[in-house]
Amino acid sequence: MALFITDDCIRCGACEPACPNEAVGFRGDIYVIHVERCTECVGFRDAPACQEACPVDCCVSDPDHPESEGDLVRKVLALHPDDESLRRRVEEADVPSRYRR
Ligand code: SF4
Repeated sequence: MALFITDDCIRCGACEPACPNEAVGFRGDIYVIHVERCTECVGFRDAPACQEACPVDCCVSDPDHPESEGDLVRKVLALHPDDESLRRRVEEADVPSRYRR
């Protein structure tokens, strides 16, 4: 399930550099999370980086885009095909994930 940014966003930009998938962008005059790139940080962190970085708690789960942990692992591997460290973590079942906290 990707995250999305609510209307409470104050446009501080803290989320954009925090994302390991470059899923956060600026569109028009608002920050958005691109669904096709968001893995809920599965593969890199055990909590969504944008959620932790946001000072007003406006990065929230998007119920319109349900994905299983397995879906998110496949997605992160597709986004980073040359990341051997990530691939090794997946093969060793040692994947940082909010679902394993
Ligand atoms: Fe990026 Fe992680 Fe936030 Fe998704 S949850 S937009 S991957 S920082």
